[in-house]
Amino acid sequence: MERTLSIIKPDAVKKNLIGDITKKFADEGFRIVAMKMIHMSKREAQGFYYVHTKRPFFDSLTDFMSSGPCVVMALEREDAIAKNREIMGATNPAEAAEGTFRKMYADNIEQNAVHGSDAPETAKFEIGYFFSGLEQF
Ligand code: ADP
Ligand code: MG
Repeated sequence: MERTLSIIKPDAVKKNLIGDITKKFADEGFRIVAMKMIHMSKREAQGFYYVHTKRPFFDSLTDFMSSGPCVVMALEREDAIAKNREIMGATNPAEAAEGTFRKMYADNIEQNAVHGSDAPETAKFEIGYFFSGLEQF
């Protein structure tokens, strides 16, 4: 079993997609082991995306991520990190496969509906960024 961090980003929350997205995770065999809705501050968004500090889109990305509430979840399943990346689709919705969240729901490469951890070390950091041990089931 492996755990990954998922975020339903502010664009998808605004579009009322929380139910559709969590249903798909259940259908794909993920167990939600932690979950909450939060509205990140700019500083909290910068901390979450610190690996992208030097990227040209960092300021705009962290404005977007702090623009409204999002849903953060820790998900568990066999091969959770890769499976979540598969059902999310490519970062750019124009390149995302049919049926993926980003193909179905994303507006553009920045406002792209969902986040998913990309490796075991990042999953550990990202889950710990939002959830204490007591909040994970
Ligand atoms: P992913 O979320 O697929 O792991 P990255 O880690 O590369 O993608 O980027 C983190 C987030 O930054 C993306 O999900 C997206 O919201 C935003 N982003 C990535 N590339 C760009 C870009 N070229 N322009 C604007 N925003 C971007
Ligand atoms: Mg990433």
